[in-house]
Amino acid sequence: MRKTGFLHDDRYLLHETGDYHPECPERLKAIYKGIEAGGLLPMLTQIKASPADQGWIEAVHDIRYIMRLEEACLYGMKEFDYPDNQMCGETFETAFLAVGGILDTVKLVMEGEIDNAFCSVRPPGHHAEVSKAMGFCYFNNIAIAARYLQQKWGIKRVGIVDFDVHHGNGTQHIFENDPSVFYYSIHEHPSFAFPGTGREFEKGSGPGEGFTLNNPILPGQGDEEYHLFIEENMLPAFDAFKPEFTLVSVGFDAHADDDMSGVSLSTEAYSWVMKKIVEMAGKHSQGRLVSILEGGYCLARLPELAKNHVEILLNAC
Ligand SMILES: [Zn+2]
Repeated sequence: MRKTGFLHDDRYLLHETGDYHPECPERLKAIYKGIEAGGLLPMLTQIKASPADQGWIEAVHDIRYIMRLEEACLYGMKEFDYPDNQMCGETFETAFLAVGGILDTVKLVMEGEIDNAFCSVRPPGHHAEVSKAMGFCYFNNIAIAARYLQQKWGIKRVGIVDFDVHHGNGTQHIFENDPSVFYYSIHEHPSFAFPGTGREFEKGSGPGEGFTLNNPILPGQGDEEYHLFIEENMLPAFDAFKPEFTLVSVGFDAHADDDMSGVSLSTEAYSWVMKKIVEMAGKHSQGRLVSILEGGYCLARLPELAKNHVEILLNAC
């Protein structure tokens, strides 16, 4: 029988960001509640986190940056690199657990124990650069997962779909010269949204030219534009690239009710986008897909969005 994995761990709540920060532990509680209330837990292979081997984090990040983050935690600093990046004494350890849990999940897929999985982790990762924390992110979880797949499991072509409403600047920069990882992102236009990158003309460079694809969405746009871009840009690009493994940066912050952006994606369109990605992974990646939580801040919408997301993964099996 084929299976869907669900990575969650109460220790992901230990990374505290202060009283008013949108990237709060309650996000993961809301997600868990939605999956539990939907009756999905008994059908899932539940995965707990273990800390990553630092060597895998070094596959993406500068060791001096890793040490700098550790020292900041030890010294009790409350923010790191930017005021957005609020931290506490447990941030370093929690970030290691996020990476470790994701790598364990990827391993289970590669070993055939599960077919696909959703990783409900904090802190998120796609804004983290090689030597810089940004946008609530410390380690670039998905980039590390891609390197792990290549270096540990011999996967040659990794496809990354990023449908967080913000452009994954860190992920793009890490792979922009690299034709072995295709990065597709659909996000709010950089003229209107953090982090100010992800324009259509950013297509990769050197040997990586043509392996980055950005589809910016204007404020007020939503379902119609997502349908068009996914059908006409994303799917043909991945049909050509044929990823052997698909990684997904899932952000629920493009939802109409999430006030982190001006993009208005409906609940139904969220499901449609994920179904298309799952179908694509079925066609090219033998169904091997791991989705990793990035943003999503509307606590009222997260339960349903997460439940639908996991249901789609279950139905793919
Ligand atoms: Zn986001």
